[in-house]
Amino acid sequence: MHNPITPLSLPQDGIRCVLFDMDGVLFDSMPNHAIAWTRAVQQYGLSISREEVFLNEGRTGSGTINALTQRTWGRQATEEEVQNIYRTKSEIFNACPTAPPMPGAAEVLTKITRLQLLPLIVTGSGQQSLLDRLNKHYPGMFKRELMVTAFDVKLGKPHPEPYLMGLVKAGAVLNSDGSPLHPSQAVVVENAPLGVQAAKAAGIYTIAVNTGELTDKALLDAGADIVFPSMQALADAL
Ligand code: CA
Repeated sequence: MHNPITPLSLPQDGIRCVLFDMDGVLFDSMPNHAIAWTRAVQQYGLSISREEVFLNEGRTGSGTINALTQRTWGRQATEEEVQNIYRTKSEIFNACPTAPPMPGAAEVLTKITRLQLLPLIVTGSGQQSLLDRLNKHYPGMFKRELMVTAFDVKLGKPHPEPYLMGLVKAGAVLNSDGSPLHPSQAVVVENAPLGVQAAKAAGIYTIAVNTGELTDKALLDAGADIVFPSMQALADAL
């Protein structure tokens, strides 16, 4: 059951920005990631199930690869292995049909900007092609200085660093003294359990959208404050 909410159900007072995850929130790209990961690691004698791809979503590439080598080979991957496997994964991903924008996401963005909230991107992705496509599909919505990507952070989700960096970047634009926003001044939109964990560890109210192949329970157990079945359902509730 998904409880419909009114805008008043969100912690509106003092909210100044919305931090959006990208894969599985703004683009329906997770099916391509699932194909790329499962096929790529197979070429190296490793294996990962589709469900595990969704469960590991948000982790850095090396974090995911090390978990697999640890399980199968009983050791961490070498730097060379990480680079080779991740390159193969990226090649397969880039050969997949282009991931479409997530239905409902444009409407969510339009509504939150009407509410005078600043949208930011917080993603573990370093896929240049996806970053470029943000401007094509969501024109004028995101500025480069308001994006946190794989290039900005050392620690992937579920560590709070990416979302804390989002508060820093938002504060640099919104606060006259450039100080970071307080976690209570932001809301996160996430689709993955590790992403929800990262946002909650940063102390931020977290809306989960279940656009993938896991249960709502996986998102609630990760700490989501509320779960919507889709971005369109979130748009309808705003
Ligand atoms: Ca995601």
